[in-house]
Amino acid sequence: MWVQHPPGASPEQRRYNRPNVLSRIRQSLALKLILASAIPSAVVLLAGLGALVAHSHRLSVRDPAMAFDELRTGAILGTLLALTFAGMTIALAARHFLLKPIQGLSRVMARAELGEFLVRARVQSEDELGKLARSFNTMLSRITDMAVADIEAKESLAKMEHDLSLQAELQAVNARLGAHVGEMELLLEVSHAISGTLDLPELLETLGRQVFARFGVSEFSIMLVDDTTHQLVVEAVAGDAARNARGTRFHLGEGITGEVAARGQTIYVENVASDPRYPHHARPGRSKGSFLAVPLKSKGRILGVMNFNRPQENAFSQQEIRLAEAIAAQAALAIANARLYQQTLELSFTDALTGVPNRRQLFLRLENEVSRSLRFGDPVSLLMIDLDLFKRINDAHGHTVGDGVLRGVALALRRSIRKIDIVARYGGEEFCVVLPRVGKPEALEVAEKLRLAVAAASMPGPEGHPALSVTISAGVATLGTDAQDVAGLIEKADTALYEAKRLGRDRVAMAIPVQLASA
Ligand code: GH3
Ligand code: MG
Ligand code: MG
Repeated sequence: MWVQHPPGASPEQRRYNRPNVLSRIRQSLALKLILASAIPSAVVLLAGLGALVAHSHRLSVRDPAMAFDELRTGAILGTLLALTFAGMTIALAARHFLLKPIQGLSRVMARAELGEFLVRARVQSEDELGKLARSFNTMLSRITDMAVADIEAKESLAKMEHDLSLQAELQAVNARLGAHVGEMELLLEVSHAISGTLDLPELLETLGRQVFARFGVSEFSIMLVDDTTHQLVVEAVAGDAARNARGTRFHLGEGITGEVAARGQTIYVENVASDPRYPHHARPGRSKGSFLAVPLKSKGRILGVMNFNRPQENAFSQQEIRLAEAIAAQAALAIANARLYQQTLELSFTDALTGVPNRRQLFLRLENEVSRSLRFGDPVSLLMIDLDLFKRINDAHGHTVGDGVLRGVALALRRSIRKIDIVARYGGEEFCVVLPRVGKPEALEVAEKLRLAVAAASMPGPEGHPALSVTISAGVATLGTDAQDVAGLIEKADTALYEAKRLGRDRVAMAIPVQLASA
């Protein structure tokens, strides 16, 4: 069969494409088997027949009957021999062209069956078995490709999964970072707000407002330890907490907050309903949700407790508890600072020797009382007091004893006045007493009472000696009648004091009213 050549095909291609007899034989297993067995058999048969015919021909000249017999026997034997030879050649051809390649192919197939996809069958011919081996090899290389593609797909899947897990991890880290930034912002805001004031009540109020607004709680309160009574006092409340709760007192160790204040450790109650320490009796209908109490500690001292409520159970995360503790640390520092400032302020207004207000505070308070008196028309009186012959005490017993006497006089004066009155050290051994809402006659009575109180008080004497006693002289002046302002009031009281001294000491003298003086 001739192949239709495409126009323009080269002579080389034409020669290559032309199927000749040999290539057809190479490509056909059947033809090979037929030719490999038929040609030798035919040759042997023809040679045998030729020899038999020649032999019979020679014999027929002498004996034709015998020649015929020989020819017949020879034909039968020759045919049998030729058939045997043909059988042998068929067997040999089948072994060479069929059996061996099939065995080779099946060995390779067995290895491939076990998963060895990189083996290849030997292509020994171009016949059907050769094509089968080639197809099998192609199939194996496809399988290898598929295996490679599968491995690559698995690898890219694993990489994708890894990328996804990294992405998820990154998102989680981002979320954590976001939360931390939020916490830091809140902490910064609270710190900023509370560092803006040194006034303790204002500071606590700001802290309460800030934490309540930003921490997402339903109630918030701050309690501080009262060092004199060793009790916890509610100082600030925010949210649903009852406004009148301010000022409520708890003993250290009492309830949850008391325990926090006593031990200095945070207590978190996930469900207050099942905690007997929670003050259920004081909160009818509101004994549910979660409660967090954090100590306010500064330099190892427990200053108080901060309390956070949420209406849901188990509503505070560990992170929020840590944040609450960080806020508490900042708040405690600010509270300690405010207290220190308050103490410093008090010290700067207090006389170090006697503990009573000093001259600076006297003038401030006097200014207040005078302007209040002028505004509301209430009277205010001033006593100027001077120790009699105090120099002698100093001279006789020394300055230390003199100091003790000054302290004793200050104490005697303080004990004899009302809460709203002010005793202050004016200077040296002079004291002033401000008497708000006290007119002149009453002021004279108070001055007399003070004079007697000091005279009756025993002052500490030198060691081994009996107690000392001292007397005072006092001048009394009243705003409105004697003077119109602070300076005038002091001057008038001082003049009256001078008069008391002049009259013999240990007595009270009153200022002469303006109208009488000018009369
Ligand atoms: P009088 O007022 O009765 O006229 O006599 P006096 O002796 O009290 O008078 P003077 O004002 O002369 O004396 C006041 C004395 O008070 C002089 C001073 O040594 C003493 N003094 C002033 N401040 C202090 C102090 O802080 N401590 C002691 N120990 N003495 C003081
Ligand atoms: Mg004196
Ligand atoms: Mg004096």
